[in-house]
Amino acid sequence: MKSASLEQMMADMNNGTYDLTCNGECTQCGNCCSNLLPMTEDEITTIHKHIKKHRIKEHRHNYPTATPTMDMTCPFLNDDKSKEKHEIYSVRPRICREFICCPSKRPPIDDWGYKLKCKTVDVRKEFFK
Ligand code: SF4
Ligand code: SF4
Repeated sequence: MKSASLEQMMADMNNGTYDLTCNGECTQCGNCCSNLLPMTEDEITTIHKHIKKHRIKEHRHNYPTATPTMDMTCPFLNDDKSKEKHEIYSVRPRICREFICCPSKRPPIDDWGYKLKCKTVDVRKEFFK
């Protein structure tokens, strides 16, 4: 089993690329789970219905500090669990279904119809505020 060295990962991040997979397979580390995601209106509506039906609560990832800090990790990532960390897995948006951080494994999203329908969503604000 081959994994990237810490130095290589830091260099990749500095260059705007990173690969946290293991030989191209997702390790479910959650590092790509951002609070800012491109989504279509249909995806937003589906997720709203799902979280209401299943009473899904917001997850926070910041350490308590005297001054409030911004949590830029997706509120659907439950990192208290080692498995089944994803609260909306069955209805996750297309970007989450297709993204993989390994550049050579990433399929090009060349569907312009999909891209044009997407807007960048502040996930925490959209679903929990
Ligand atoms: S795709 Fe995301 S969850 Fe999977 S290894 Fe890369 S950063 Fe981690
Ligand atoms: S919806 Fe799921 S896969 Fe997508 S960023 Fe949030 S936790 Fe990660």
